[in-house]
Amino acid sequence: MSYQVIARKWRPQTFDDLVGQQHVTGTLKNAIKNDRVAHAYIFSGARGVGKTTAARILAKALNCVKGPTATPCGECDSCKEIAAGTSLDVIEIDAASNRGIDQIRELREMVRYAPAASRSKVVILDEAHMLTGEASNALLKTLEEPPDRVIFVMATTQPEDLVDTIRSRSQHFHFRALTFAEIAGRLEEIAKKENLKIEPGAMAVIARMAEGSLRDALSLLEQARAYCGDTIPDKEVRELLGVVPDDALEELVGAISEGSADRALGLVHTFQKEGRNLQHFCREAIRHMRNLLIARTCGADSDLIAATPDQRPALAKAAELFSEEDLTRFFQILLQTDDDLRRKPDPRVHLEMGLLRLINAARLAPLEELLAELKSGAPGSVSNTGVARSAAPAGVSTPAAKSAAPSYAAAIPAQPKAESKARFSSPFSAQVSAPAAAVAVPAPAEVKQEVEAEESAIPAKSNGAAVQAAGISQEHVAEIKAAIQAQQKFLGELVEQSSRWELEGAELRPVGTGGRGAANLFFAGEAAVRGIDGRERDAGEDPCHFEQRARPGGARLC
Ligand SMILES: [Zn+2]
Repeated sequence: MSYQVIARKWRPQTFDDLVGQQHVTGTLKNAIKNDRVAHAYIFSGARGVGKTTAARILAKALNCVKGPTATPCGECDSCKEIAAGTSLDVIEIDAASNRGIDQIRELREMVRYAPAASRSKVVILDEAHMLTGEASNALLKTLEEPPDRVIFVMATTQPEDLVDTIRSRSQHFHFRALTFAEIAGRLEEIAKKENLKIEPGAMAVIARMAEGSLRDALSLLEQARAYCGDTIPDKEVRELLGVVPDDALEELVGAISEGSADRALGLVHTFQKEGRNLQHFCREAIRHMRNLLIARTCGADSDLIAATPDQRPALAKAAELFSEEDLTRFFQILLQTDDDLRRKPDPRVHLEMGLLRLINAARLAPLEELLAELKSGAPGSVSNTGVARSAAPAGVSTPAAKSAAPSYAAAIPAQPKAESKARFSSPFSAQVSAPAAAVAVPAPAEVKQEVEAEESAIPAKSNGAAVQAAGISQEHVAEIKAAIQAQQKFLGELVEQSSRWELEGAELRPVGTGGRGAANLFFAGEAAVRGIDGRERDAGEDPCHFEQRARPGGARLC
């Protein structure tokens, strides 16, 4: 026998074999058992989810010598003929290429005669929504007064395009897209029967790329076997399908958590060098960020995540690095970047800008929160957080200064490392703040002082002394506002500048400024940071105390 591709060889032969469509197969089995089979069905759903296969199984079930039965034997002549596609009583028509009235008239002639060798004639109309209006009307007449023992099954990916009169005369079953787990499970089963050794990572890639279509998954498996032979490693499948390696996504997450623009831009550089599609990387990053967000909110075991069991612990660990708010923000930035990549001419620059925004996103967040607090006029929250911070022990640790590389990118996150700890422990995420607290364990005396200060701060709206104790005054507020505006202006300029940059080799240079544009930005950025740092600090005030006060959304730094 000639070679059969995997998808055809392992086509389901009984209702129970059909993956993931129990709501349909259950109803059909009952209808057969109770002799209540309708004369017209619409099977709708995405490609490769089992519509035509279900129609053929229905034909077998009705015509099996041991039937009609919900479990056709698969051994009688009728079952064999239908499976091989040679039965005279099962008529399969591709409505996409036979969409005219003449073909439907022919079909009407064909169904007027009794079945040749079976109990029922089954007409399977593939892509039924492609029929012309006239053809639909011609078919309608037949559906209205169907000849005895003829059953129509209309398979379609767009049921809404079928005319209403046909829809109202048929039973409609919607076939759903398969889940990652269902596809992966079936792949595993078939790989075993075919004696294929397939790495779990490779299987996950195929199951994910199939996007709910089992047939697509099996075609990809076929392709992978042709490329790799009977042993299918993860790395080669990714190569074959152009999928971004997992470690690149891990590297991106690491870069964000460390606030390292260097590492993030290095990724883009590597991809460019390897000739990878940057938009594809962005999409994969979006998918990964979604997985992290779900791992964070619903737990890493959630079915909503498309990942194999052995990938989940890593996801859970990465998700713990960020708060829900952070992940949501990253997600939005990546979506925006994807949009930019699609519409704008220079993908590399926009991807780089997108990644820089990711690195900076968390840094901006506390400022946004402060602004919101100021706008909503909630002094209680401001003064309370101020108290907590003012009670923190002194001693600034700035490992960040060492990591500042002399590139324009490194100038943007001025204190990446120190902040990466602080910013992920926003007031909304109590459990993440644990590591930050571990950095600075206050002495018992300080804790007491903190409690006292907080108690006095609550009724302190009109109490000047308490406000002072809370460490924030009206002029501080005004100055912090000014500093925020300077920061936002700086970032605005940065994005503005990005559209005026060009690429020279691997280097980004501003157009027509001989490199000075970036330098100007660098210094502008420094100034903006110093704006908070230099002008505002009271003489004699502990710098650490000040840092924390100026960064109300974050937790203590030192
Ligand atoms: Zn049979």
